Amino acid sequence: MLSRPRSTIARAARAFATLSLAATLAVTSTVSAFAQNVPVVRDAEIEALVRDYARPIFRAAGLPEDGVDIVLVNDQSFNAFVAGSRLFINTGALMSAETPNEIIGVIAHEAGHIAGGHQQKLRNQLERAKTMAIIATLLGAGAIVAGATSKSRGLAGAGMGVAAGGGEMAQRSILAYQRTEEMTADRSAITYLNATGQSGLGMLKTFGRFQSALSLSGAQVDPYRISHPLPRERIANLEVLVKKSPHVDKVDAPALQQRHDMMRVKIAAYMGGQAAASRLMRKMPGSLASRYGDAQTSYLFGDLAGALAKTNALIKAQPKNAYFQELRGDILMKANRPKAAAEAYAKAVSLDPARSGLLPVSYGQALMAVGTPDSLEKAVVQINKGLGRDRENAVGYRHLAQAYGELGNIPAADLATAEGHFYSGAYKDAKIFAMRAQMKMKRGEPGWIRAQDIINYAPSGKKK
Ligand SMILES: [Zn+2]
Repeated sequence: MLSRPRSTIARAARAFATLSLAATLAVTSTVSAFAQNVPVVRDAEIEALVRDYARPIFRAAGLPEDGVDIVLVNDQSFNAFVAGSRLFINTGALMSAETPNEIIGVIAHEAGHIAGGHQQKLRNQLERAKTMAIIATLLGAGAIVAGATSKSRGLAGAGMGVAAGGGEMAQRSILAYQRTEEMTADRSAITYLNATGQSGLGMLKTFGRFQSALSLSGAQVDPYRISHPLPRERIANLEVLVKKSPHVDKVDAPALQQRHDMMRVKIAAYMGGQAAASRLMRKMPGSLASRYGDAQTSYLFGDLAGALAKTNALIKAQPKNAYFQELRGDILMKANRPKAAAEAYAKAVSLDPARSGLLPVSYGQALMAVGTPDSLEKAVVQINKGLGRDRENAVGYRHLAQAYGELGNIPAADLATAEGHFYSGAYKDAKIFAMRAQMKMKRGEPGWIRAQDIINYAPSGKKK
């Protein structure tokens, strides 16, 4: 098969650098503009970790905790917000947080906004399936300001597209929470943190940092700071609440901190390059996270034999870590050893506690690369399994279409191509392939019906 980078992060990072911003995931079917403009990245390990941060908080807040979708936005600035059941978070926010508690605090604050029914109008709009246009606005609005003040690349491109439709002030008014709502969300956040036995210090640290850092001209303005005003009074109130909590001195469990460190190193290696990863690794000498970073940089920057040896040692240290197996699979794919890669991915799939839809797709790609009819059949099974867990993985459909194509099942290949276009927001192309698939299918069979759904689909906001 085509040799393509095995990591969706790497792929997205490169797309981002060229400003084509091809998202590896179209977040919903309603948003072509969003999908094309926002650099969403996918990673099984990071998504699972952030979901683990969010789940107990959502439960404490009475929000639906099941299937909290984590959407990782490849942007160096700090931003995080909840929309519907989706938690959007910038990789920059994850990178800059030294502890899980700092991120969990921000999630708790966002959950406070949702549970408090703040911005009800916005939320009503979200309910009405216009989610993505709104989210593009939320993401874009901060970026407009950030782009204007610092010429930071960030999401400025996306922001400008959005701005054309509304004007900066309109965007900002959507974002601006009322001061009282901020304080209410802070109070709710502390309630959730208390209920889950966690400290509010991380939240205080994050917000305190926003308050102090950014009156400087030329500094990057974080979208989050613009949407969440931080008068001194608010920090003072929060400080009182945090210190009053019986859990103020609680620190994150060491295993969670370790996962957090591994995530930071990963983001640094894939997004920031070798220097950024080394900088971070020097702060955690000898740690598993630092060894993970070492293996990843070896892999990313061409020392496959070294990377494999380092990853094998990591696996020895944590035999049940699904993501070490995933890295091993990535390395073996790059080394043109698809059979061994498939075995590693198979282990990753079976070890993955979060049941990510991404890992079976990787497994399927390795099986495709093996290339025998038998392995192609298995590839179809695995990729379908991944897509069953994660229907919106547009990239997965591309691989599925290829696998069906190689097996000679052209109608199924056409339908998979249609799905891929559909979830990327390219509805016209989706319809063309759906019609093509239908011509070779029996009227009324499941594939035919799905094709018909795509043909009938009208993007929201447009009249049929
Ligand atoms: Zn807020």
